[in-house]
Amino acid sequence: MNTEIENIYKELGISDKVYQFSREILDSLSARFCAIDQNAEYNQLKVIKAMQDNKVSEACLLGTTGYGYNDLGRDTLEAVYASVFHTEDALVRPQITCGTHALALALMSNLRPGDELLSPVGKPYDTLEEVIGIRPSKGSLAEYNITYRQVDLLTDGSFDYENIKKAINEKTKLVTIQRSKGYQTRPTFSVQRIGELISFIKKIKLDVICMVDNCYGEFVERMEPTDVGADMAVGSLIKNPGGGLAPIGGYIVGKKECVENAAYRLTSPGLGKEVGASLGILKDFYQGIFLAPTVTAGALKGAIFAANVYEKLGFHVVPNATETRHDIIQAVTFGTPQGVIAFCKGIQAAAPVDSFVTPEPWDMPGYDSKVIMAAGAFVSGSSIELSADGPIKPPYAVYFQGGLTYEHARFGIMKTLQNVIDTGLVAL
Ligand SMILES: *Cc1c(COP(=O)(O)O)cnc(C)c1O
Repeated sequence: MNTEIENIYKELGISDKVYQFSREILDSLSARFCAIDQNAEYNQLKVIKAMQDNKVSEACLLGTTGYGYNDLGRDTLEAVYASVFHTEDALVRPQITCGTHALALALMSNLRPGDELLSPVGKPYDTLEEVIGIRPSKGSLAEYNITYRQVDLLTDGSFDYENIKKAINEKTKLVTIQRSKGYQTRPTFSVQRIGELISFIKKIKLDVICMVDNCYGEFVERMEPTDVGADMAVGSLIKNPGGGLAPIGGYIVGKKECVENAAYRLTSPGLGKEVGASLGILKDFYQGIFLAPTVTAGALKGAIFAANVYEKLGFHVVPNATETRHDIIQAVTFGTPQGVIAFCKGIQAAAPVDSFVTPEPWDMPGYDSKVIMAAGAFVSGSSIELSADGPIKPPYAVYFQGGLTYEHARFGIMKTLQNVIDTGLVAL
């Protein structure tokens, strides 16, 4: 049996040494993988229960065209999301084009001129800088006289409660909390820590809206931010909750009023959730959230495997080999451009689609250095699929995430290791 497996790895370019090294690391991870499987089991049942409670039927998988009035499948799917996240309401639409759009929608629809937005967790994700107007942009919140305040984390990564308290004032209407670290070096927050921060904020100002950017965090834990007091959680369907099947889309779950505001902004005042044809997309949205808990678990195992491989070889990895996970992102610092490039080429070579192309660093718009990206995805740009990218600048770190199956994520990491070894950067 095992020789068969070894042989097929060999056919795919994995040496005996890399196979054995990986095997030993994976054997040492079985207890952690078991805990991840148990979370996946819990979350799988949570999704199934939500589908059953909301009577998902075969008819729900069909779509509407035109205005999309009385779209049973769309409305039921939104009820399923509301059940999964334990919220009053949900907006889950293919007309929400990406995660940034979902976040912009949640912000722009719930803030009014004269209001202030607060980020108590430091700088938000890059693309939100233009939404907020930190970097001037057409249509930003700043253009509508919505001001922004930010409180950075303390140097040890903890919340700066004293300055958060000082920053909350009579104008503060909405607080945005980003769960995942994104491309920063701070740790990702656990749902529990997010809950502590929300409690603190609500004690100072009860009616402030607490929104969580939930990107990359869905189904990593058993609880979601909406279980610990968040008024809204927002994310992308081409990340965790789409399960790899959703080809587009975003979601906003939360308080009825918050979701309603977002719906009126997405479509039109007076129309709200009543319009928005689902076309033929619903089956993928349903099947995607059904698969999301196990897909997320596979991606998590891949990330932990990568952390253990590269930490053992002496590289700095975030999160490290042993710490608990709150999102699916793994960073590995190579310290050299060659390392970043070899890693990305390995991810590409492991892909089911476009495995034969060679990624090269290029001058991507919006970045101040060359960037190399690897993805052989079924859905373009999907980062729940196995993917990696790294800016070609110090400290020469690569960010890697995803894998629709654990087996694929594992193979991808082995392929990166093989490439890094073949490039002569390390030896086993
Ligand atoms: C991906 C991501 C976004 C933006 O999502 P896009 O779909 O790329 O627009 C926002 N915040 C975080 C933390 C993310 O990871």
